[in-house]
Amino acid sequence: MLRSVFRCLRINPVAGQRSMSQSSLAGKVAIVTASTDGIGLATAQALGKKGAQVVVSSRRQANVDKAVALLQSQSIQVIGTICNIDKKEDREKLVQTTLDQYGGIDILVSNAAVNPFFGNLLDTTEEVWDKIMSVNVKAAYLMTKLVVPHMTQRGGGSVVIVSSIAGYQPIQGLGAYSVSKTALLGLTRALAPELAHDNIRVNCVAPGVIKTRFSSSLWQNEDMMDGFKQLLSIKRIGEPEEIGGVVAFLCSDEASYITGETITATGGINCRL
Ligand code: NAP
Repeated sequence: MLRSVFRCLRINPVAGQRSMSQSSLAGKVAIVTASTDGIGLATAQALGKKGAQVVVSSRRQANVDKAVALLQSQSIQVIGTICNIDKKEDREKLVQTTLDQYGGIDILVSNAAVNPFFGNLLDTTEEVWDKIMSVNVKAAYLMTKLVVPHMTQRGGGSVVIVSSIAGYQPIQGLGAYSVSKTALLGLTRALAPELAHDNIRVNCVAPGVIKTRFSSSLWQNEDMMDGFKQLLSIKRIGEPEEIGGVVAFLCSDEASYITGETITATGGINCRL
């Protein structure tokens, strides 16, 4: 009886079962950078809930400990270590710790970014430019370069880079940061064809305004939010979990034919370059 219903509806029950397991990340090892708060933490949570073993990190041990405890309380397999993404020795330690504890790497989510200056683009100092480009762009590339040999050893993997809506439409006052986020759209597209040979997919997520500490000066300012809401189809700012879920999808086999893409998750703000 059930079979004939499936036949009428042209549903293959076996294919249905397969698609459920395609979203699973059981047995996968995932590094998420800058993952003790906000979007990074929500991403670690989303990956962990799909069964991945996750590695969280950030600059402060207290934050790492807190994030590990929170994820463990949700039965997520997790370890944590300090990693200031701007430091070569920290990046190497993050990779080595992952290999020592979990024996391989399948997923990298490059999420770290800074914005040390708010103001006119032409008032941005060389020092600020260097910092923004080093953390937001160069470290994303260098982390990818570090993990690729280990993904290759496992027969493939997935890299997801966190950009921003600012990468499409520069935000006033955040000029250099916006340019760095546009660079990540390019980095994604440049890496994807090269790494496809090793069965590694490279994708990007560009969030709109998401309720985190990083964006608090925006969402705590009612006047700014009123103006901003005009641009939104969904008239609220996003939650970190709404980005974590998109990243987890891109890391899963459900996205097995997607590479070099950026998914914008902005509540409907029009994005184009
Ligand atoms: P957040 O909530 O403020 O969290 C930032 C995280 O990064 C913390 O865990 C922090 O921990 C860590 N961190 C900061 N500097 C670091 C460094 N140099 N190395 C390693 N870890 C570092 O920020 P968020 O809003 O989730 O932002 C995450 C990403 O989303 C960024 O790439 C940002 O550009 C992007 N994004 C955010 C929004 C938004 O509206 N929130 C929109 C678009 C894009 P420690 O202090 O312990 O280091």
